[in-house]
Amino acid sequence: MRIPLLFSLLAIGCLFDLAAQGEPNEWAVERSLDFAKRHEVFKDFYFTEHEQEFVRLVQEGQSPRTLFIGCSDSRVIPELIIDARPGDLFVIRAAGNFVPYYDTSIAWDGVAASLYYAVEVLRVKEIIVCGHSHCGAIAGLFDEGESGFPEEILERWLQFGGPAKRLALDSAPPNASKSELAACATYLSILFQLDNLLSYPFIRALVERQELFLHGWFFDIERGQISYYDPLSQRFALLNSAKNTEKTRRMYAPASSKEVMGADD
Ligand SMILES: [Zn+2]
Repeated sequence: MRIPLLFSLLAIGCLFDLAAQGEPNEWAVERSLDFAKRHEVFKDFYFTEHEQEFVRLVQEGQSPRTLFIGCSDSRVIPELIIDARPGDLFVIRAAGNFVPYYDTSIAWDGVAASLYYAVEVLRVKEIIVCGHSHCGAIAGLFDEGESGFPEEILERWLQFGGPAKRLALDSAPPNASKSELAACATYLSILFQLDNLLSYPFIRALVERQELFLHGWFFDIERGQISYYDPLSQRFALLNSAKNTEKTRRMYAPASSKEVMGADD
């Protein structure tokens, strides 16, 4: 009797899991039960209410108009902070919301592959790069040489925050604290990541034709506020103060040529 492929794969997966983890301990069992309860809440309430929407998204396929690039930080939840629905956002999350610059020699680049899929296949109309307050990746840029990140894998990733760090150091007063430097670098990094997006030929071409728009956002965790970068004033301003959305739809010049100011309080 032939075993369906899916079941054989599941069986093989289970064997490997058991071999690697041994018997689940009490903590792991409790966590699983907790997840099961939370999933029940989703099923009983959110899914029940939006079931037809999920069915439609399967039948018609997804067509999100927005690619959201955010940090992996557990406190910055893209769908939550802009009240997004299933199908609204295509999301890339990685430490520091860094975007590697275009480089076809790099293998296994998940960010680049997701960018390509979002832009060339899904044809999103806008890309948001969203940084946030108290970002561990940005703070890590300034810990180098002290507690630091000795692991090569982290060092390689943090290089994408290097230009923002250097510009923050160059422009800050000599007595600036580490947290002030990190706050400054957070804003600058958002613009450098937008620049990195423009290093992808398929993105730059669409931006130049105004068929794709780039946005730089900053999420203030403790205030629950989003600010956006206004290229006209070269400042971050509160998103809910944006009267003219055209202001947010301009192509970004290199961040290194700009003096970037934080959001108005
Ligand atoms: Zn972060």
